[in-house]
Amino acid sequence: MYNVVLIRYGEIVLKGNNRSKFEKKLVDNVKYALREEDVKITFSQARLYVEPNDPLDLDRIVNKLKKVFGIVSLSLAVKIESDWEKIKETSVKLMEEENMGKTFKVEARRGDKSFPLQSMEIAKEIGGYVLSKVKGLKVDVNKPDTLLSIEVRESTYIYLNKIPALGGMPVGTNGKGLLLVSGGIDSPVAGFMLARRGVEIDALHFFSPPYTGVKAREKVVELCKIVSQYSGKINLYIANFTEPQLAIRDNCPPEQMVLLMRRIMMRVAERVANEKGCDALITGENLGQVASQTMKSIVATNDVCSIPVFRPLIGMDKNDIIDIAKKIGTFETSILPYEDCCTIFVPKHPETQPKIEKLERSETHLEIDKIVDEVVNNLERIEIKNN
Ligand code: ATP
Ligand code: MG
Repeated sequence: MYNVVLIRYGEIVLKGNNRSKFEKKLVDNVKYALREEDVKITFSQARLYVEPNDPLDLDRIVNKLKKVFGIVSLSLAVKIESDWEKIKETSVKLMEEENMGKTFKVEARRGDKSFPLQSMEIAKEIGGYVLSKVKGLKVDVNKPDTLLSIEVRESTYIYLNKIPALGGMPVGTNGKGLLLVSGGIDSPVAGFMLARRGVEIDALHFFSPPYTGVKAREKVVELCKIVSQYSGKINLYIANFTEPQLAIRDNCPPEQMVLLMRRIMMRVAERVANEKGCDALITGENLGQVASQTMKSIVATNDVCSIPVFRPLIGMDKNDIIDIAKKIGTFETSILPYEDCCTIFVPKHPETQPKIEKLERSETHLEIDKIVDEVVNNLERIEIKNN
């Protein structure tokens, strides 16, 4: 019997200009997420309402809305005109058809002050009426199984439960970042986490044909598709990293391979970020996870770039990262066993306590500027859209 989705967002922390920016973006992002649905979207008094032409589409619509950042919770509701008899009958019908609990409580809100009954009176009257009509129910004002909510506004909305959503900030309210995305578990999660803070995402992936195959590349595209269900459109830049890797292999000490590689990646990433209007880099680095992520290694990698590098997973436990990957739907794809360019030419004993001067000395054997130019000038762009 539901015919509308009611959307709540985290407006409380926002003031003034920020709030209207937040609201405008949220509306845009909801429209984008539902661009293939036949719906009417309205915005009023710090609420968003989505009315489908066909109520059978509601479940699918809710699933899409659950991935829009900025939404704190949703409710499936019945929208009716603000007529007292209709409110009473609809409340009873809703409790009969949709309620699973044994105890209930009514909560009412009167947004339309011309309505003759006040909030407390509405709650009391409806509570009594439902109790007299629906068998086996009890009132529990402290810990009810079901909260029957009635909001009297220009229309009246009646609903039972709140469906939690992801919260966060609407994507686009907090700048744009360049996600260094590999095919692993961590980087897609890092992208998700920053998108949740309102950051728009572009992505950069390094691959090394023929050492890394087509499947590895497809996997990254697939991972970006999943992330884009939350972040919206992603421009994925694919960078050919074969030449730099061969140059390092042929000219530098093997134990420095990974760090030298990562320092070139960061230089390329900074250039791409500047060219594409991204104000920060985002990586899935996690302190101590592998040789290239010890404190000293991260310092050495970070040393070559001057824009901020956001590492949202830095202090997390691997299991917590995996939990998020499973929840957002990237895990199954991430564990597919294809080579990444970080796993080829990897020495048996990589450096874990690198000295920056030593790395710099090795880099004099490489034509760093030319290598970076070459990679940056030969990017391929793939536009990734969700659903
Ligand atoms: P992930 O699970 O994200 O692959 P990881 O634990 O395997 O991370 P590394 O391989 O050391 O760790 O990579 C650390 C970070 O460097 C990644 O999270 C990612 O942000 C970036 N990175 C690694 N490989 C690539 C690549 N091929 N292209 C772009 N970025 C990469
Ligand atoms: Mg990796």
